[in-house]
Amino acid sequence: TEKDTKFVYAFEEGQKEMVDLLGGKGSNLAEMTRLGLPVPSGFTISTQACLNYLKNNKLDSELILQIEKKAEELEIKTNKKFNDLVSPLLVSVRSGAKFSMPGMMDTVLNLGMNDVTVETIAKITGNSAFAYDSYRRFIQMFSDVVKEVDRQLFEQELTYYKEKQGYQYDTQMKERDWKIITQLYKEIYANEVNEQFPQEPEKQLLESIEAVFKSWNNPRAKTYRRMHAISDDLGTAVTVQEMVFGNTGMKSGTGVAFTRNPSNGKQGLFGEFLINAQGEDVVAGIRTPQDISQLAKIMPEAYQKFTDLAALLEAHYHDMQDIEFTIEEGQLFILQTRNGKRTPRAAIEIAIDLVEEGVISKEEALKRLTPQMLEQLLHPTFVAKELAQHEVFAQGLPASPGSASGKVYFTAEAAKKANQAGEKTVLLRKETSPEDIEGMAISEAIVTAHGGMTSHAAVVARGMGTCCVVGCEKLQIEEGSKKATVAGHTIEEGTVISVDGSTGCIYMGEIAKEKPTDESTALGKIVSWSKEIGTIKVMANAETEKEIAEAFQLGAEGMGLVRTEHMFFGEKRIVEMRKMILSPDPTAKKAALMNLKTFQKEDFKVIYRLAKEKSATIRLLDPPLHEFIPVGKEVAKMATILGISEAEVNQRIANLAENNPMLGHRGCRLAITNPEIYEMQVAAIMEAAIEVTEELGNESVIQPEIMIPLVSIEKEIVFIKEKLEKIISNTFIEKGKEIPYLIGTMLETPRACLIADKISKHVDFISFGTNDLTQLTFGFSRDDIGKFVNDYERQQIIESDPFQHLDKDGVGKLLKIAINSVKENESSDVSIGICGEVGGDPQSIEFLLNEGIQYVSCSPYRIPAALLTIAKLNI
Ligand code: ADP
Ligand code: MG
Ligand code: MG
Repeated sequence: TEKDTKFVYAFEEGQKEMVDLLGGKGSNLAEMTRLGLPVPSGFTISTQACLNYLKNNKLDSELILQIEKKAEELEIKTNKKFNDLVSPLLVSVRSGAKFSMPGMMDTVLNLGMNDVTVETIAKITGNSAFAYDSYRRFIQMFSDVVKEVDRQLFEQELTYYKEKQGYQYDTQMKERDWKIITQLYKEIYANEVNEQFPQEPEKQLLESIEAVFKSWNNPRAKTYRRMHAISDDLGTAVTVQEMVFGNTGMKSGTGVAFTRNPSNGKQGLFGEFLINAQGEDVVAGIRTPQDISQLAKIMPEAYQKFTDLAALLEAHYHDMQDIEFTIEEGQLFILQTRNGKRTPRAAIEIAIDLVEEGVISKEEALKRLTPQMLEQLLHPTFVAKELAQHEVFAQGLPASPGSASGKVYFTAEAAKKANQAGEKTVLLRKETSPEDIEGMAISEAIVTAHGGMTSHAAVVARGMGTCCVVGCEKLQIEEGSKKATVAGHTIEEGTVISVDGSTGCIYMGEIAKEKPTDESTALGKIVSWSKEIGTIKVMANAETEKEIAEAFQLGAEGMGLVRTEHMFFGEKRIVEMRKMILSPDPTAKKAALMNLKTFQKEDFKVIYRLAKEKSATIRLLDPPLHEFIPVGKEVAKMATILGISEAEVNQRIANLAENNPMLGHRGCRLAITNPEIYEMQVAAIMEAAIEVTEELGNESVIQPEIMIPLVSIEKEIVFIKEKLEKIISNTFIEKGKEIPYLIGTMLETPRACLIADKISKHVDFISFGTNDLTQLTFGFSRDDIGKFVNDYERQQIIESDPFQHLDKDGVGKLLKIAINSVKENESSDVSIGICGEVGGDPQSIEFLLNEGIQYVSCSPYRIPAALLTIAKLNI
C-alpha cells in the first residue's frame, strides 16, 4: 500500500486546501505557484511521510523513490542539476506544519554545495566571496540541523577571525576570508562528526529531510505545541525548493512584511528588509534591518512589484498576510505567505476594515474574533514588557477583568477619603459587604482575601466594570493595624500595588498600562453585527443610572436583573431601613417604611426613564435583614434615634443573627413573615411606572416586571402573589390608571427546579439564578469557595470553578429538568431567562442556548462578549 500512496507533491500539484497534508508553508507555496506568483520551484513531502518516519525511524524505500523522482523533475524544470559543472542546482529544505510554529523547527539553505559546486557558482556569478559565504552557511546549518553540532562553535570561529582581521561586519569579508572560514568549518565538522563533510547532494538531501522530520519532536517544538494547544500527532511536511539568493551583493536582499500593522491593525505594509543578506539574517538581529518603506528608494521596481503582490495575496486569502521575500539581482521572489499573527486589538480593527472594504462578510469577521479580544478592548491592560519586570506576590481568582494600580486602603471609608484627596486607591479587604459600595465604586481595583467568583465583591465589581481579584487566601489582612502580609511582604496603608483582574495576579508597585484608543466605534460595530446575527437577547444586571446607561451603550436589550438591596444604603436610607427593622414602635416602623417607599419610588423612576418600554426586571429584597443593621459606634447613634437603650438595640440585633444566613431568613421567606416590605416595594414600582408613563405622554407604556427571589415551594409564590396583586389593584384605583405588568420568580434552589412546572403555573416569567443554584446544588458556599477551589482545579477534582463556568452535569441537569417540565405544559407561555453570573460566560452560553433559554442577563461589561458568543453560535 505504501506504493499506492503519494507522499511527494510538486508545487503545481498542491493547493491551499491541502494544508493537513502539505503543511501551511507547503500548501501556500503551491497556491502561490498556481496563482502565477514568482515562487522558486519545488516540491513538498507530506506530513503522512513524516508520521511514517517517526513510527519506523527510517525513510521508507518507496518514499526515497518518490523524492528522487521529484528531484529529477525539479532539475528539468529549473534547467539545473545537482553537482552540475555548468549550472548546479541548490535547494533549501524547509519544515512546515499545519499550524505555523515560527522558528520552532529547522531549515537548511544552500543544499547541494560542495567543494566543486562552490567553484562553479563562483565562476557563474563572478562572485567568489558570495559562493564561499553560501557554502560556509550550508556547512553550518547542515551541522546544526542534521548532526546537532553546537552552532556556537561556528559563530565563535567567525567572530574570532573577524576580530583578528579588524572587521566589524560580515560584509567586510572578502573571497579569501570566506575561503579560510569554509576550510575551518569543514574541520569543525570533521572533528565533531568524525567524518568528512558529505559531498554528494543526494546524501545531503535525504539526511536533511530526515532531520526535519525529527525536528517535529524537538523540545522547543513540543513546548510550543503544548502552549498553543496544537496536537502532537500532526507531523510536519518538508518542502524542498530551488534556492534564490539575497546575498549576491547590493542589488539583492531579503525581508519580511505584513500587509497590515499586526499590533494596531492599521492599513499599509509593515515590515523590514536587509540588503545583501540571506534567510534569517533579518530575524537574527546581527545587522539592523531597514523599514520596508526604504525599499521604495533603494529598489523602486522590486518594491512596486512587492506592493502589488502583497495586495494580491491579501485579496486572495481574505486576510492580513505575513510574507517572506528575497530579491536576487533586482528580481523579486516570494518564499512564504501565511495569515499573520496579530494582537487582539489589531484582530478587531482588521476584521472591521475587511468587512468595510467588502473583502469578507460580517459573519466571517465575527468568526475570527473571540470574546477575550473584546474584553481586552474594554479594559486597559498592562504593558507586557513592564509586567515581566514585576514580581507576582499574591494570586487569587480573576473576578473582573482590567488592570489597575493604586494605593492600598483597608476600609471603604479610608479609600473614599483618599480618593477625595485625589489619590488612586485599591481597596483591600477580607471580604466586602453592601455597605462598602461607595468605597468600591471609587477604587481602581478591589482585592479580597476570601470569597469566590460570585461573592459580593466579584458581582459588584463586574457590575461596575472595576478590576477585581477575590479569594487571595494567602493574604493575611489585619484591618485593625492597617496592614497585610503575604510570603514575607508587608503591605501597609498607602503601599502602591498593581492588580490584574484577568489573571488574578497582584504585583508590587505601579505598572504602565495601555488602552486601545478608539475602542468605542470598533466595539459598537461588533456589537451591532452580533445583534443582527444572534438568536437570543442579552440583558444587563444593572441598577444604578450609570450602570444602566453603560449597559444600553454596550448593547443590552434591557435589564434582566435590577437588584433592590443596594437602594437601601446611603446615609439617609440606611437610617430609615434600620428604623424599620429595629424600632419597637409600630407607628415609627410604618413611618420608616413610607420614607423608604419615597426613596425607592425615585430610584424606580430613574430606571424607567432610561429603560422606557424596554424590559427591566426588578427583584424584590433578597438579602437577610441583618445585613442592614448597625455595627460599632452606629449602635449608640441608632439607640438615640429610636429612643431606646443601647442594650435593647443590641438585643434586637442579636435576635436577627443566623448561623447560616445564606440558607436563612431571606428572599421570599422575608415576605411570608414581613409582607409589608414587598408590598411597599411593589407599590413604589407601580406608582413609579404609572407616573413615568404619564411623563412620557403615554407614548411608551411601561410594563413593570416584578421578580420574587428564592422561591422553593409552590404555596410561597401563591401566597405572595395574592398579596402583591391586591396592592397593585389598589394602586390602579388610587392612580385612576391601569398598566400591564408581569410577575415572575427566580429558580435558584434545587427544589424549585424540580417542581418548576408547578411554580411556573403562577407566573409570567422565570429566571434562573445560577449563583444560588450552584451554591445549593454543590453545597459550596460562594463566599468560602476561594479557600479550596484552586486546589480542586489543580488536583483536577473539578474542571473549573462552577461559579465561573456553569456545571453542566449537575446544575445543568437541574436546568434541563426545569425547562423541560415548563415546556411540557402546553398552555404555558412563560418566558425563561438566566440572570446568574454564568449568563455572561461564553463557555456556559452555548449550553444555555441549546437548552432553550430565551435570554441571558449579565454585568454590563460582559455584554459585548456574550453577544459575540451568541452570534458565533448561529454562524
Ligand atoms: P521558518 O519556518 O523558520 O520561517 P523557512 O523555511 O521559512 O523557516 O526558512 C527561513 C528563511 O530561509 C526564509 O524566510 C527565507 O528567507 C530563507 N529561505 C528558505 N528557502 C529559501 C529559498 N529556496 N531561497 C532563498 N531563501 C530561502
Ligand atoms: Mg526555521
Ligand atoms: Mg518562514
